[in-house]
Amino acid sequence: MAEAKHYKIIIIGSGPAGLTAALYAARADLAPLVLEGLQPGGQLTITTEVENYPGFPEGIMGPELMEKMRAQATRFGAQCEFKIATSVDLGSQPFTVESDGERYTGNAVIVATGATARLLGLESERLLMGHGVSACATCDGFFFRGKEIAVVGGGDSAMEEATYLTKFASKVTLIHRRDAFRASRIMLKRAQDNPKITFITNAIPEEILSQEGQKAVRGVRLKDTVTGRVWEHACEGVFMAIGHQPNSQIFRDQLDMDEQGYIRTVPGTATTNIPGVFACGDVQDHVYRQAVTAAGTGCMAAIEAERFLAHG
Ligand code: NAP
Repeated sequence: MAEAKHYKIIIIGSGPAGLTAALYAARADLAPLVLEGLQPGGQLTITTEVENYPGFPEGIMGPELMEKMRAQATRFGAQCEFKIATSVDLGSQPFTVESDGERYTGNAVIVATGATARLLGLESERLLMGHGVSACATCDGFFFRGKEIAVVGGGDSAMEEATYLTKFASKVTLIHRRDAFRASRIMLKRAQDNPKITFITNAIPEEILSQEGQKAVRGVRLKDTVTGRVWEHACEGVFMAIGHQPNSQIFRDQLDMDEQGYIRTVPGTATTNIPGVFACGDVQDHVYRQAVTAAGTGCMAAIEAERFLAHG
């Protein structure tokens, strides 16, 4: 293996958390390395318009916002590489990060690897993502004013998203694969009591249906999980709320995590169980999951890393 390249700070991930950490670290003259990962720019690159990131009164397309964040970080000397961190050794200083045969060492590491919304894995779902299919009600609900939409899932997220979406939609149909719900009783009841929400249980979407010749949703083809019956349900939007997976696998056994794999940070900080290793954004947050909160914790991580490097 080639000799390791050394950096003061290595940032793993390039969503709003990673790129904000990069901006702050770069402006502190720390010339950070950013390993951008599999999906440079992170989850916002699979949304369309972002209307709730402050500073853009007309809204901004997700990929464009991320391109601007990247440009802002590189302007001050962040080095962004289209590389995927494949393993880390956080057991001794300097820390080591490997990426497909290349080795990097850093005195501080900022983990900003994000989370991935679980999807059904349908080709039609992938093709219509951002065009009627979404995994974030807070991000995209606004675009469905007066429309009929479906929410897939039976946990707290599904109940919360279905309830939230009734602010915009004319009708919300919650589709769940069983007839028992994982959701907490209170959130289930709130959804059940909402006159705009109807439930279809024991059903899974087999296909997201698109409008003839257009990248737009016209419904879902559902299959009854008990009887096998197949039918079409009309709607103009489909929200997946079947959970998120934090991208923390490579840190397992090194960083403290909760049972779902979210990295534990000391509340109110980006500090992990290893001095010099900081975590920010969705890999440590299963509550807010917003671009602006990710950017905020990215800033915290960079300031803490800077102080760590100055004082140990
Ligand atoms: P979750 O609790 O894991 O629920 C995921 C749901 O999606 C389950 O109902 C599951 O069905 C279904 N599902 C999973 N894979 C599926 C597939 N391939 N096809 C169809 N359905 C599928 O995830 P979550 O709702 O995102 O919640 C995650 C955590 O955050 C939970 O601890 C939750 O309490 C918490 N949370 C709390 C709040 C709140 O308190 N305000 C809000 C949101 C989330 P099965 O039930 O059949 O497995």
